[in-house]
Amino acid sequence: MLLEDTYGRKITNLRISLTPRCNLRCFYCHSEGECNPDDEMSLEEIGQILKTARHFGMKSVKLTGGEPLMRTDLCEIVSLIPEEMESSLTTNGTLLARKADELKEAGLSRVNISLDTLSRERYKEITGRDLLPQVLAGIDAALEYGLTPVKLNVVILGDVNDDEIDDFVAFAKDRDHLILQFIELMEDFRNCPYHKDLRPMEEELSRTSKTIITRRMHHRKKYCLDGAEIEIVRPQHNTEFCAHCNRLRVTSDGKLKPCLLRNDNHVDIRGKNDEEMKELFKEAVLRREPFYS
Ligand code: SAM
Ligand code: SF4
Repeated sequence: MLLEDTYGRKITNLRISLTPRCNLRCFYCHSEGECNPDDEMSLEEIGQILKTARHFGMKSVKLTGGEPLMRTDLCEIVSLIPEEMESSLTTNGTLLARKADELKEAGLSRVNISLDTLSRERYKEITGRDLLPQVLAGIDAALEYGLTPVKLNVVILGDVNDDEIDDFVAFAKDRDHLILQFIELMEDFRNCPYHKDLRPMEEELSRTSKTIITRRMHHRKKYCLDGAEIEIVRPQHNTEFCAHCNRLRVTSDGKLKPCLLRNDNHVDIRGKNDEEMKELFKEAVLRREPFYS
């Protein structure tokens, strides 16, 4: 039985933050609202959440953070994901190369890899570390071991990387099973001078793309341009994003988060038995309302 909120949105996706820890310091990072590194959920707690999600017929789960590869038990977590659910991981890719085969073996379906620049100098400036070669090796490994399609998350930062669009398109064209996701910077977070409105880019893509496919998730469109596949992600000031949101989030300290853009309506699910947890899932879904309507 799928959970449905009072706005008729069915809850099919779970997004679990596994840790607030990270080995990079991207200057724009909202860290998904994560803060307390000493309070991460255990393997057992994550297993119970996955079991509950399966009970409610959820179809997919995404593991994120902080940086999920900071967790030494990541492969064990992946192996707890019910077979019926599609599984994916959002990672900065720096630690992926030597783990990609184990993750595939553990049952992971695919990865999103975050990479905002193809320039080694800029990468250092954005993330604070000189690890671009490691990320590129992570992308190669993900493609090699079939963690596909690999989605490249590129946050567009005005006057920092917005001159690299063509380079990213060329990068994607050269690689099968790699999709570009250009993400609009969430401007309520610090460093908003870098915010760039991606609507003009999307309008341009609508005009120039050979094919446009509308995806179920957030009704997002996929543009096919010169052999590259491109999606634009605009979570803010976007009623379409909210109207089609079918995702429930879990923070790394065990709270259900009904809305990406709110931190004042979480539901604590720690220390509960299976029946109590099911009730709390229902409660969190009842608290969902479109942020932009
Ligand atoms: N550490 C992993 C990574 O970088 O992929 C997973 C967590 S990170 C918070 C998840 C995604 O959020 C990344 O693609 C990152 O680029 C994006 N992100 C972080 N801060 C953002 C912001 N202020 N606006 C838009 N996207 C942001
Ligand atoms: Fe944030 Fe991910 Fe960058 Fe870490 S790698 S600072 S979690 S965007």
